Amino acid sequence: MLHPQIASISATRHILKKFNLRASKRLGQNFLIDAEVVQKIIDAAEISEGDEVLEIGPGIGTLTQGLLEAGAKVTAVELDKKLPAVLQETLDGYENFKLIQGDILKINLSELMPQSFKVVANLPYYITTQILLTLLEKKLPIKKIVTMVQREVAERMTAQAGSKIYGAMSVAVQFRSDAKIAFDVEPKCFLPRPEVTSSVVICDVRENKFKIDDEEFFIKVVRSSFGQRRKTILNSLIGAGFSREKILKSLEISGINFERRAETLTIEDFVNLAKNLQEF
Ligand code: SAM
Repeated sequence: MLHPQIASISATRHILKKFNLRASKRLGQNFLIDAEVVQKIIDAAEISEGDEVLEIGPGIGTLTQGLLEAGAKVTAVELDKKLPAVLQETLDGYENFKLIQGDILKINLSELMPQSFKVVANLPYYITTQILLTLLEKKLPIKKIVTMVQREVAERMTAQAGSKIYGAMSVAVQFRSDAKIAFDVEPKCFLPRPEVTSSVVICDVRENKFKIDDEEFFIKVVRSSFGQRRKTILNSLIGAGFSREKILKSLEISGINFERRAETLTIEDFVNLAKNLQEF
């Protein structure tokens, strides 16, 4: 370790005080203060020497330090303009660290990360969904995504068809990856403490086993199907502008009863439905 470990309550308080900073609620700043959790995230990401890692929201560098110590080459994107000065000091001397000050949702990630990489992040909770969907839908060369999210989001990411919380997020995540909850993290592991329990989710991104030519259309069908949860799949798709006749025919060929609701459809069902809707 080149520097004193950042992942502790005393180090975090010291850094915040030194730079006259307060954790910003608006930016979803809950800094990790537990070294054991940092290590468990590094282990979950199976970091080895030379791994290219994109970190979203490095904050004061807590998780970043763990990643760099494990030998990763880290490119971090941080929105808060006050933090580059902090990171320059807390991560001073570490090679293989690159910081981009900006909004992860606006950055051109294909340009920034052209080679195979892993994403490791303690995500800002106010934009978790948008970030995950951006990562998954942009066809980036991602091998693995290991993220801290709210427990409730972790459950939605990994929910199976038939469960009440299964939705567009579950389909988007599992369409491109094998996702599982690795472990839970209690509020006391952060400064300030969030109101809810968090979970670390591992998404192993795979070659797509679902063959589909037009992924944008597939995503549109999934989103429209879950648009109004209590409606049948038929009515949701009519609401999204497809013709009744076209939907009924596509559902029949896909072997899906028109009275079913979106939350009962597996990813294969959605893939078949999208293909057939496009064909007729
Ligand atoms: N990685 C640090 C840790 O574990 O202690 C901080 C995690 S904190 C939950 C989320 C971080 O994301 C904050 O540093 C926040 O400023 C940053 N952030 C918020 N919105 C962002 C955005 N749109 N793009 C990049 N970073 C963002």
